[in-house]
Amino acid sequence: MDTTLLELRRTIALGCRILAATGATTPILGHVSHRLPDGRVLVRCRGPQESGLLFTTVDDIRLVELDDSGEVGDGYRLPNEYPIHAEILRARPDVASVVHAHPVAAVVAGLADRPLRPVVGAFNIPAYRMAADGVPLWPHRGLVRTAEAGRSLAATLGDGSAALLLGHGVVTVGDNPRESVLRTLDLDELARLTVAVAGLDGRPDEVSEADRADLPDLGSAFNEAVVWRYHVRRLALRGLDDVDRIDAGKEPR
Ligand SMILES: [Zn+2]
Repeated sequence: MDTTLLELRRTIALGCRILAATGATTPILGHVSHRLPDGRVLVRCRGPQESGLLFTTVDDIRLVELDDSGEVGDGYRLPNEYPIHAEILRARPDVASVVHAHPVAAVVAGLADRPLRPVVGAFNIPAYRMAADGVPLWPHRGLVRTAEAGRSLAATLGDGSAALLLGHGVVTVGDNPRESVLRTLDLDELARLTVAVAGLDGRPDEVSEADRADLPDLGSAFNEAVVWRYHVRRLALRGLDDVDRIDAGKEPR
């Protein structure tokens, strides 16, 4: 196999494991995709040995067409909610990767009608920037199983990088799987903070114009490369970083 393709499949598989290991999604549900320059899509599918996102291997990452549905060979099936990926990728030529996950705090914030506002500053600058751009709420609670539902969600996302799905989860997008996965982690952190502040009956102002000037984009080398390496090394501590092995990993402690 083409090494670039294999490396991309490894990155997506690691991204799935990181989402599960950090609690940014429920154990079984969620998926990561990445569109190749030729228009085909690498996406986390469900196979005969499905054991949840924490145990994703490269075999679970299948190369499919944007229009595919159902069975994709070797006993693998596209996720039921593949239209999330297909329709966002179709609507957003500027985006290559999509994550759908179920972070509990984001669901709580949506249900409690607590929008994710730009109230956190230097604690997490990428989260602040995402909130400042706006995190819209898609008001439907069912599975996104049709192109129509996918298009509706893509319209809510607009040209943003993240959206909440009421009573369900989140979507984030990025230039690559690393960026879209780390955005889900940042969104999860922002949601946890939003829920905690709401629990203390806090009503914080948004970050002031003056303070915004001191919240620069520190760049992907810092925001992505270092954070990604940290999460991969944490997986390694648990014996969970080898995504080529079907039996890799132990039960989380
Ligand atoms: Zn879902």
